[in-house]
Amino acid sequence: MKTVKIRDKEFSISIGEKDILKAVQKVADRINSDMDGKHPLFIAILNGSFMFASDLFKRLSIPCEISFVKLSSYVGTKTTENVKTLIGLDENIEGRHIIIIEDIVDSGHTIEDILNNLKQYSPASVKVATLLFKPNAYKKNITLDYVGIEIPNDFIVGYGLDYDGDGRNLADIYKIIEK
Ligand code: 5GP
Ligand code: MG
Repeated sequence: MKTVKIRDKEFSISIGEKDILKAVQKVADRINSDMDGKHPLFIAILNGSFMFASDLFKRLSIPCEISFVKLSSYVGTKTTENVKTLIGLDENIEGRHIIIIEDIVDSGHTIEDILNNLKQYSPASVKVATLLFKPNAYKKNITLDYVGIEIPNDFIVGYGLDYDGDGRNLADIYKIIEK
């Protein structure tokens, strides 16, 4: 079994590069057929989604654009109130067909915040493409339009996803070995 050590934790291989790219191709195929003629604007959420965004974008054959944003979280007036805003969205998205590119959807809080942020600018439509999805952790009713791979509730790293900043460079996806 292929394992890696990142900082203080051990991880074992979970999804190999070949299977990741197969899932990316399937998502690309569906988007190519659904969004034909719609000139979508992809909004990739940094940092985690950069590898997925890159591999997905290379596989798109329709006219399209991409922009990269970051999610900042800052504390509101109450310390419990966490308001997340999008940083770096320069495009006017009014009337545009938007596809959000995420690395992973877990509880769904993050994707909900992103959708609420984008909807205030009146896009024509907003769809979600996520490489990974943890259905057993999901707490929202938002439809995830394009899901690459459904995974169990293990903590994973690699292919853009990090553990405390490290591990994003791994071409395969690894899951934590609980001791
Ligand atoms: P959610 O808001 O859906 O609970 O979580 C989404 C965010 O949590 C993701 O964008 C990602 O940054 C982080 N996350 C959730 N699960 C994992 C995981 O297994 N590994 C890593 N590295 N990040 C995760
Ligand atoms: Mg993320």
